[in-house]
Amino acid sequence: MTYDAIILGAGGAGLMCAAVASQRGRRVLLIDHADQPGKKILISGGGRCNFTNIHTAPDRYLSANPHFAKSALSRYAARDFIDLVDRHRIAWHEKTLGQLFCDGSARQIVAMLMEECAKGAARVSLGRQVRDVEHADGHFRVRYGDEIAVAPALVVATGGPSIPKMGATDFAYDLARKFGLKVVEPRPALVPLTLGGDEVLFRELSGVATQVVARTGKAEFREAALFTHKGLSGPAILQISSYWRHGDEIGIDFLPSCGRNWLLGAKRARPRSHFHTILGELLPGRLAEALTKRLGLWGELANMPDRKLEEAERRLADWSFAPKGTEGFAKAEVTAGGISTDGLSSQTMEAKSVPGLYAVGEGVDVTGWLGGYNFQWAWASGWAAGQSL
Ligand SMILES: Cc1cc2nc3c(=O)[nH]c(=O)nc-3n(C[C@H](O)[C@H](O)[C@H](O)COP(=O)(O)OP(=O)(O)OC[C@H]3O[C@@H](n4cnc5c(N)ncnc54)[C@H](O)[C@@H]3O)c2cc1C
Repeated sequence: MTYDAIILGAGGAGLMCAAVASQRGRRVLLIDHADQPGKKILISGGGRCNFTNIHTAPDRYLSANPHFAKSALSRYAARDFIDLVDRHRIAWHEKTLGQLFCDGSARQIVAMLMEECAKGAARVSLGRQVRDVEHADGHFRVRYGDEIAVAPALVVATGGPSIPKMGATDFAYDLARKFGLKVVEPRPALVPLTLGGDEVLFRELSGVATQVVARTGKAEFREAALFTHKGLSGPAILQISSYWRHGDEIGIDFLPSCGRNWLLGAKRARPRSHFHTILGELLPGRLAEALTKRLGLWGELANMPDRKLEEAERRLADWSFAPKGTEGFAKAEVTAGGISTDGLSSQTMEAKSVPGLYAVGEGVDVTGWLGGYNFQWAWASGWAAGQSL
């Protein structure tokens, strides 16, 4: 069968690309090895899909080239996706920090994208393994299941390897390398961190959550952190994990709302209070106790020298530790790194050295913050390629 474009991967980016290209009159084949489209959309946002973020901006994405995402994100903005959602009468709400969720179910987003594909008469072929991709005489020949499809354009939209048990693969990287494109080393991102060494004590706090500022290098996030039986998770930790590299230290401010010298102030105001009582008023009890133990500050504030309290305040505002590692691709919400943007046009997502070959979505070295940014990249990059096919 001959098409104008073959798209590999029916996730957010592939579905958007197929909808846009087919509605522009292109004959499109969309192939996925899974038995249903948009599986990650279905499980996203606790089943309600955090489908975009109204604060989308290029500086909320990680990439070896921080400028690459600008073009696609500006040409297909959060507003454009919201308009599409509104046209399909899908009710939504802002939860926090600009994150938009469906009121009902993530299924509505998948159904909407499938309807948009049907409008353009895109052919969607599910449950078929891609066996082989060849390129000759300006045409791509794809063997999938028992069929062969040929087209002058091929879009790689097979995502990254995070959550392999859902069918995620590193197919995109293998294909990119086959065509001579570089791949920036993929690594798990938006992923819980594991603790070892001295910090292993914190594992006893499994289930405790508190608002923190988490920092590494120049990145910092003020959100909740959650202690787990392996280490740390929660939005602040997932966010900072994307910036963290093995060996780097992470700093946690456990009391971001306390101003300077708050502890000396407490000593003056309530000298007979115990340190752990004061801390217990500001933090969950189990955490206050564990930190008191680590700081070794037992007794009344009045009996503690000011410099000890100043040192305690400093440590509570910047508790530094080197995580042992991450919980890996099995638990990572996304993959950072991927197909190098060096070889791609930021306007069209087409490979500069292989006309007709495109890469979109998470397989490309563009990774968003937590909170709808990754879907916005999937829509925007899929849209950019769909406009060019
Ligand atoms: C648990 C979880 C929750 C998330 N929640 C959110 C959220 O609320 N908001 C947000 O913005 N982001 C969220 N994300 C991230 C978001 O899901 C991804 O960034 C986004 O789905 C990437 O879209 P994509 O189309 O590039 O890739 P994918 O959605 O991964 O789609 C790739 C498709 O390619 C198919 N495929 C893979 N290999 C092959 C192959 N060899 N042959 C054929 N087909 C193949 C897969 O089956 C899949 O359908 C979440 C991720 C996870 C894991």
